[in-house]
Amino acid sequence: MNVISTRGGVPPTSLSDAILAGLAPDGGLYVPQALPRLDLAAFERATDLPAIAEVLLEPFFAGDRLAASLPALCAHAYAFDAPLVALPDGRSFVLELFHGPTAAFKDFGARFLAAAMGALREPGAPEVTVLVATSGDTGSAVGAAFHRQPGVRVAILYPDGRVSPRQAHQLGCFGDNVAAFKVSGSFDDCQRLVKQAFGDAELRARRPLASANSISLGRLLPQMGYYAAAALRHARAGRAPLNLVVPTGNLGNAFAAVLARAVGLPIGDIVLASNANRVLADFLASGVYEARESLATLANAMDVGNPSNAERLRWLFPAHADLSHAVSAQWVDDETIRARIADGEARYAQVWCPHTACAVEVLERLRRAGDDRDWAVVATAHPAKFETVVEPLVGHAVAPPAALAAMLERPAHAQSLAADYAALRDRLLTAP
Ligand SMILES: *Cc1c(COP(=O)(O)O)cnc(C)c1O
Repeated sequence: MNVISTRGGVPPTSLSDAILAGLAPDGGLYVPQALPRLDLAAFERATDLPAIAEVLLEPFFAGDRLAASLPALCAHAYAFDAPLVALPDGRSFVLELFHGPTAAFKDFGARFLAAAMGALREPGAPEVTVLVATSGDTGSAVGAAFHRQPGVRVAILYPDGRVSPRQAHQLGCFGDNVAAFKVSGSFDDCQRLVKQAFGDAELRARRPLASANSISLGRLLPQMGYYAAAALRHARAGRAPLNLVVPTGNLGNAFAAVLARAVGLPIGDIVLASNANRVLADFLASGVYEARESLATLANAMDVGNPSNAERLRWLFPAHADLSHAVSAQWVDDETIRARIADGEARYAQVWCPHTACAVEVLERLRRAGDDRDWAVVATAHPAKFETVVEPLVGHAVAPPAALAAMLERPAHAQSLAADYAALRDRLLTAP
């Protein structure tokens, strides 16, 4: 299948080329030229996550040069499960997306993208540098996914002092082909540096760059896989379509859920749960999209004032009436995030990460309004990643899962970098 740009300014392009390019040349985001309509019978023999994802992604990759690699890409990207766990009331569920190596949902997309880039690499092609700005979770998922991959270097930029201690350790623990830079500045500064590098033709001639941010179709499309698996498993248990509350920042994860439903999976309502960065809730209420400066909150991976994938949502639903029928959005302040983490064990026997806590709050609002349908909150990260927020609220230590614990045992090193493009350029050019 070919892809086009949300802005309509590029000819149909192969999915592989779009995965390698990241952003479309007209500044828009790549989207499928036409959405396939899946026949649920095609999933009959698919039970595990990799098999379900393969059936789901097949029409998207049909005719593409990655088509023959799709089974291997899925086996690699979905090497760990995304279980749908029932909560005590029997009609609320948690879709746990934190069983990958860096304990956040971004592992699925980052691993798919890394494997896709590996499969597309021509023998003897020059080395590429994957350059990525992160507010925490993206960088470690990308670092883990590309660690020791031949022909690839990774440079991760993160704002010094503004990620959790465990996140900082994870970012710096890879070594080898993965370099972490702690930038004296904000996440927005990191993003600005990355944008400047991508706009620097002379740098790119000497150091070919690749992007791995959440607008890449190589991350977005595979995120549909776990929604498909959860929806099918729920339907096979004889239940009505699963409704979803998705913690949302840049809108990549939630947009994947919207796409999975659009191609025919049994998914009901989708509610976006934001932190105090309320741009989506305001947009859906008013019909006027207004980007904001981002606010720092306890759910820092969702501190986004101008969600890039909003452009894809508006492309899919150009009429505001259709859009507000398709999704709704609510926002949650820090005080309420704290309250949901603090009472999570008493109410559900669960410890929530701050992002997941936003979704739990939204689910509680729905229940209070009398909604008794089946809902899943999407758990986007393991709470142990945000220990400085979570542990004081639950009153005990939260043990990291095994893969995260192993990373925390390794030594970590990050290079200091001024929030200055000349400094970054120099560092990229002088890397061995
Ligand atoms: C990235 C992230 C989010 C936000 O996901 P988007 O795709 O940007 O909306 C939510 N929770 C966690 C833990 C994350 O790392």
